[in-house]
Amino acid sequence: MSIYPKLFIPGPTHVPDNIMKILSTPQIGHRTEEISELIESIIIDIKDVLYTTNNIYLVSHAATGLWEMGLKNSVQKGVLHCVNGAFSSKWMKVSESCGYNYNVIDYDWGKGIKADDIDKMLSTGKYDVLAMVHNETSTGVMSNLKEISDLMHSKYPDVLWLVDAVSSMAGIKIEVDKLGIDFILSSTQKAWGLPAGFSICAVSSKMLNRSKIIKNKGYFLDLEIYEKYFSKFQTPSTPSIPHLFALREILNIIKKEGLDNRWKRHRDMRNHVRDWAINKGQNLFSEEGCQSHTITCIENIQNWDISKIYNQLLEKGYRMDRGYGNLKGKAFRIPHMGNIYMSDLQDYLNQLEGVINV
Ligand code: PLP
Repeated sequence: MSIYPKLFIPGPTHVPDNIMKILSTPQIGHRTEEISELIESIIIDIKDVLYTTNNIYLVSHAATGLWEMGLKNSVQKGVLHCVNGAFSSKWMKVSESCGYNYNVIDYDWGKGIKADDIDKMLSTGKYDVLAMVHNETSTGVMSNLKEISDLMHSKYPDVLWLVDAVSSMAGIKIEVDKLGIDFILSSTQKAWGLPAGFSICAVSSKMLNRSKIIKNKGYFLDLEIYEKYFSKFQTPSTPSIPHLFALREILNIIKKEGLDNRWKRHRDMRNHVRDWAINKGQNLFSEEGCQSHTITCIENIQNWDISKIYNQLLEKGYRMDRGYGNLKGKAFRIPHMGNIYMSDLQDYLNQLEGVINV
């Protein structure tokens, strides 16, 4: 058993020893043929996971930096943010701090984003970018991308669509090209099942063309610089090479599992937790029809003593989530993604069940 508790928080998620070992593969040069081969093979397989032919960039920092990358390479007129939880709200704050013209569609926490609300705001013609979080990690809400895609295709083909898929990418089927997402981003510590500090994005040619006409983007987050290096299967600056090796391994695991089986595993785990929670007399925090496949947020209407449960689970070797921010104690989350399989989840629920009434 590890000296640290097994993680049942919604990121970083559990990374088993066999994958952790891959992170200690010897270093290779970042301007060599072997790294180009490694990066090329990773990109080919990520394209399959995202059902896309768009450019894939591998980025050696947290996803928060990709919020800024998305905005810096797209916003000219203004950006519309859909805010329905903590992370979408933080992304909006990036626009504020960059001084962009922005506006917000504000939802109660627990609600999904609706295409009709977006339509009303985009119809003003004031925005050339839409930014949203697919899977709000703070609330376990997964919004309906298909509905929004239909709207963007039919009425707003010139508006660039940026999607944060930090806690859904590699756990939930997202058909990037069919949906027409211009910029989709994730970091590796959620459904990819790797340590944090590394990110992935897929970028459309429409977005790259927009980036080309934007001035003063800075250097570090400029997509044109990324493109220049990625055409040689390299990165603009020295990458986290351990993450590259580990990502290669995860992609092998995904291939072996099969994409459809992977999506089904996450859906099945969602159904299992949902049934378990309802059976225990609890409510789900997220709106019906928007319940994430990777995280279930449980409204604690039974008034379980979450702090006590947390401490008891810790003694048993599990790190529980107690709820995000103001929701702490009132709604807690059970993550079920990445390297968590049904048997891990069942073990965890059994342990949880054992301490509820102790
Ligand atoms: N977006 C969402 C939906 C998240 O859940 C998180 C982190 O939990 C982030 C963005 C930020 O990711 P990172 O910590 O990799 O910057």
